[in-house]
Amino acid sequence: MKTASLEETGKLAADFTKGISGYAKSIDREIVIMEVCGTHTVALRKHGIHSLLPRNIRLVSGPGCPVCVTPASFIGNSLELLENDKSVHIATFGDMAKVPDDKGRTLSGYTGTGRVRIVYSPADLIALCAETDGEVVFLGIGFETTIPAVASTLLRAKKTGLANLSVYACFKQVPPALLALLSNPACDLDALLLPGHVSAILGLAPYQFIVENWHMPAVVAGFEGLDLLSAIFMIVRQLASGRGTVENAYGRAVRNEGNVKALAIMREVFSPVTSLWRGLGTIPLSGLGLNNDFARFDAERRFELPPLTDTEQDGCMCAEVIQGKTQPRDCPFYGSRCTPDRPVGPCMVSSEGACAAWFFYGDAPI
Ligand code: SF4
Ligand code: SF4
Repeated sequence: MKTASLEETGKLAADFTKGISGYAKSIDREIVIMEVCGTHTVALRKHGIHSLLPRNIRLVSGPGCPVCVTPASFIGNSLELLENDKSVHIATFGDMAKVPDDKGRTLSGYTGTGRVRIVYSPADLIALCAETDGEVVFLGIGFETTIPAVASTLLRAKKTGLANLSVYACFKQVPPALLALLSNPACDLDALLLPGHVSAILGLAPYQFIVENWHMPAVVAGFEGLDLLSAIFMIVRQLASGRGTVENAYGRAVRNEGNVKALAIMREVFSPVTSLWRGLGTIPLSGLGLNNDFARFDAERRFELPPLTDTEQDGCMCAEVIQGKTQPRDCPFYGSRCTPDRPVGPCMVSSEGACAAWFFYGDAPI
């Protein structure tokens, strides 16, 4: 594939910016666009896209960071499990170890004991189980992007009779969360920037309900500056002509039908379950739980873990940030009590969190 020169890229960016300004001017009111995905929040800030947009376009962060939407009680339950069952070792992605539970405790306090292990891919779990004398409980968080890799690991574990692996499943699905968000009467969004990686798995069909119910532009975007500008251009072009459709501005990675093989693996291992989200509450069929054939890998059943509760640390505004109701800078803890070195909430911990993105790449409002 031919890559664009710096000059060509600059010209394209200028053309998109001019086009966005023209359409935004013709709309002549505030346009609120939610970037659903946490990596988009970071990329928009990193590429300084906000500085190129007209004043009547406002971008707000959405619930697209898996660490941020996981309730604090999930960490609390994991800590209790470590306390109560000395045979248990927790395997987790790095960010989760730094997120405080509702009492301010973190899993990172255990990393020195060897009972909390950081993994970079679900595939690492097989080797970890082989070298661990005891139970390995994987903290299963993430969206449709991560879930097929976990499903594939569990298929392998079942085939090889791996006995000491289980998954504490808190997986989330993006479309039901968008349905809940848009169904809220207080929702004032005009359009959605849809996640790139999630859409590479799901394809475009699961987003059609947005158009059918809300007649709203919803555009899948990639992660480079030009990807984001072209997606915003497509959004304002739709708004200016009164259209509301699902479009794909990330054709080099996202196919209409998604990744059929990954979807099949996911469905073989998991089924939709009602799930609790930080900020969004309980959403029907928005999570994924293990199918009965995989019950022995289900940590919740195996260790009789209590249900999750919706309790957060006092004063933490992550729940509002995740819903796009509050900008990070409006949280009284932002930059004072809460920094990436001493995070109070997950939005400051995660590399995809809105508060961390504002902190690292500038906190001028978009
Ligand atoms: S998995 Fe990819 S597309 Fe989904 S929220 Fe994370 S970065 Fe965005
Ligand atoms: S600044 Fe900290 S406490 Fe406030 S919303 Fe962000 S992460 Fe949560």
